[in-house]
Amino acid sequence: MRPNSAGSLFQLLRDGQPRTRADLAATTGLARSTVAARIEDLLATGLLAPTGEAASTGGRPPATFAFNPRARVVVAVDLGVSHARVAVTDLGGHVLAEDTLDLAIADGPEPVLDRVVEVARALLREVGRPESDVAGMGVGLPGPVEHASGRPTSPPIMPGWDGFDVPARLGEAFPVPILVDNDVNIMALGEHEAVWPDVDDLLFVKIATGIGAGIISDGTLQRGAQGAAGDLGHIAVPGGAQAPCRCGNLGCLEAVAGGPAVAAALREQGLEVPSNAALVDLIRSGNLEATLAVRQAGREIGAVLATCVNLLNPSVIVIGGAVAAAGEHLLAGIREVVYTRSLPLATQHLRIVASRTAGRAGVLGAAAMVAQHVLSPEQINALVGSAD
Ligand SMILES: [Zn+2]
Repeated sequence: MRPNSAGSLFQLLRDGQPRTRADLAATTGLARSTVAARIEDLLATGLLAPTGEAASTGGRPPATFAFNPRARVVVAVDLGVSHARVAVTDLGGHVLAEDTLDLAIADGPEPVLDRVVEVARALLREVGRPESDVAGMGVGLPGPVEHASGRPTSPPIMPGWDGFDVPARLGEAFPVPILVDNDVNIMALGEHEAVWPDVDDLLFVKIATGIGAGIISDGTLQRGAQGAAGDLGHIAVPGGAQAPCRCGNLGCLEAVAGGPAVAAALREQGLEVPSNAALVDLIRSGNLEATLAVRQAGREIGAVLATCVNLLNPSVIVIGGAVAAAGEHLLAGIREVVYTRSLPLATQHLRIVASRTAGRAGVLGAAAMVAQHVLSPEQINALVGSAD
């Protein structure tokens, strides 16, 4: 990558701060004429916009320029097992319009993705943006994904999706870069981008019907060799109950502490809890049995997280997902065990907190994933080249 390319120069402007040509020449050491030419290239893409004038030091005040995140939009999709959230955002991750819908991932890829396209088109109409303004599309799926190809790999709860070419199908409607990842990975990206941008080591733990984690280490999402990193749900709970798990093993964290496991424990006490939402309602209404059960689930999760803390030394663990809406009781159980069982050095500055993105972590992460790609030096240079 040439350091004087438009794409490289653009990276300095990603923070949105207005700068003059002279500022950029001083920062980069490039000749003023080179900076001026690159600015012209970037203005032509619309991604850079004039923002006015800097204070004059005598004579005509110099013009300032800044990244214009509203130049293009992103379609961000967070597909769950029974629900989905679709959003249209700008390139800075601001949600312009969104919709949540009930859909069954088990219906298979074609009907589900066609529905996503339909909703995305409606949202674009709502915000008055043509489809040609879409810079890219980001999709989270509730199962393992080969990120490079965008294909799910043997997802346990997604019949018909194994190996399906998600980008190709969506690309028929939107011929733009389409990036696909596991839902917990994009939640980690979204929470990191929106709430903890200055934290380099963060673990996002989703607690719902399944349990999984997205790992951000040294500022970068870690997917592992096969995209299976962070699959906490199938780690055996130390000394835990030998409950059978859908993966075929016994005593997995998910089988002991996932939403359905908590519901099953409560059923034995005569309480019917048909869904994760019903569990959360019960806890919010102050039900003692449900509160104790979720606190115990928190301890089981904490036992596995204590190991993760020793291994990865995160500075923030974010707890999200449908069961996490139960709030402090779950967090209390997790904290109790993590702070007792992890090494003191690793927990000295560790914060364990609830998600602050109000169910939007997935779409925010999908948008961030696309922005990272389309605003990369390579993609900006390609854009500038094609505009010549
Ligand atoms: Zn399992």
